[in-house]
Amino acid sequence: MAVQTVNPFTNKVVRTFDEMTDETVDMLISQSAETYSSWKNTSYTHRAKILHKVASLMRERKDDLAKTITLEMGKLIAQAEGEIMLSASIFDYYATNAEHFLADKHLDPEYGSAYVQSSPIGVIFGVEPWNFPFYQVARFSAPNVMVGNTVLVKHASMVPQCAIAIEDLFNEAGAPKGLYTNLFLSGERASELVSDKRIKGVALTGSEAAGASLATEAGKNLKKSVLELGGNDAFIILEDADIDKAVEWAVVGRINNNGECCVASKRFIAVEAIADEFLEKFKNQLANLVVGDPMDPKTELGPMSSEEAAVHIIDQIKRSTDAGATILIGGNRVDRAGAFVEPTILTDLKPGIPAYHEEIFGPVASFYRVKDEAAAIALANDSDYGLGCSIFTQDTKRGENVASQIDAGMVFINHPTWTQADLPFGGTKNSGYGRELSELGIQEFVNKKLIRIS
Ligand code: NAP
Repeated sequence: MAVQTVNPFTNKVVRTFDEMTDETVDMLISQSAETYSSWKNTSYTHRAKILHKVASLMRERKDDLAKTITLEMGKLIAQAEGEIMLSASIFDYYATNAEHFLADKHLDPEYGSAYVQSSPIGVIFGVEPWNFPFYQVARFSAPNVMVGNTVLVKHASMVPQCAIAIEDLFNEAGAPKGLYTNLFLSGERASELVSDKRIKGVALTGSEAAGASLATEAGKNLKKSVLELGGNDAFIILEDADIDKAVEWAVVGRINNNGECCVASKRFIAVEAIADEFLEKFKNQLANLVVGDPMDPKTELGPMSSEEAAVHIIDQIKRSTDAGATILIGGNRVDRAGAFVEPTILTDLKPGIPAYHEEIFGPVASFYRVKDEAAAIALANDSDYGLGCSIFTQDTKRGENVASQIDAGMVFINHPTWTQADLPFGGTKNSGYGRELSELGIQEFVNKKLIRIS
């Protein structure tokens, strides 16, 4: 994949960058390892100062940074601004809380006295996706930098200007050279890099295929990995739900980020008693979305991130209808330039139909009608993925009871799956392993060293 900015609103190439040579990558890894040898000895106060500065620079430049996101991957401009603010909050969160999260943990052993010290482990390599080009990098880099690790980031090839902007923010915030390093290289070369002895851990957010490739290399080389992969989240509407509220959140849950969200609500599962009412209202709202220029604040649904992404979604819809699915609304490209796909609802889905099993990364909702709560839980769990899930009911206790039966890393009651700095993020099954964000996210690439005193 070429390292280049292609505006998905026009499908025109804006700027192309050269991939880095092996020599340059080698030099940058050495620099990162060299910086680690001094960075690991810096104080939390010093590290926090740099991260707070990154956060404040982000907020100052919110408008320009948001425009770069929208230009490169088509996110609606208001959501791009929101992403910058969220990313800044993640830098501040770890700058403020890391020392407390990583404090020595005193034990009470049967013999002697002992404690567990949290120490850094070295250069950590992050492979990041394009769909939240600042937020994904923030949730990987901020905790690691506070631990005392240094980071190498191979960003998605289609957001090179975002990748450069983040590295610039670190440099301007006073980070030593080698603390945060951007690498321009292909996905394949990213997996090959894992065997480099100077790299001590790897994290990837992206597809199952990329995750499996990176994790294979990590396994062969006995390195810890964290994987944040795809999802096919269920959105369950029980008969006692507030239907209007459920519909409102169903639309947001499906089309936030133009539908290109790992934790988007993708499978809408309504119990029989309220299925018709929910579907009718959901259909009306999705069909009337304002589709257009993501830079225009009035737009409600922008283009897919790339022409390839739009073509792939149409192929998934076609393969699904060929296998028996019905299109309730949409199902086609929007008749205009750019990588647009119509808001779509698919029904009559069952095992064996592609849309039943595959993640559809765009404005395509799969609708299911089930008999009751038990059937809704069974269907929600019938997926290779296990990232997030939403349950709509006015009975919170009932929601919690259903939540405890769902095989997913995150369950939200009366809200689509969402994210914030202080909540853990991650999945189970093919959605990956390990966690980012919150206290859990900072404990992944840490040596939990036992110190025992006799
Ligand atoms: P992708 O192709 O896997 O790309 C993600 C990153 O992996 C990019 O930097 C890509 O580089 C790199 N990559 C590609 N092939 C690789 C390989 N063989 N070895 C190592 N790295 C490789 O993902 P995508 O399709 O663009 O992104 C969407 C996917 O990410 C969806 O499945 C979505 O659900 C998932 N996602 C998950 C989360 C989460 O937190 N769980 C969050 C966001 C997205 P190039 O760009 O150079 O190909």
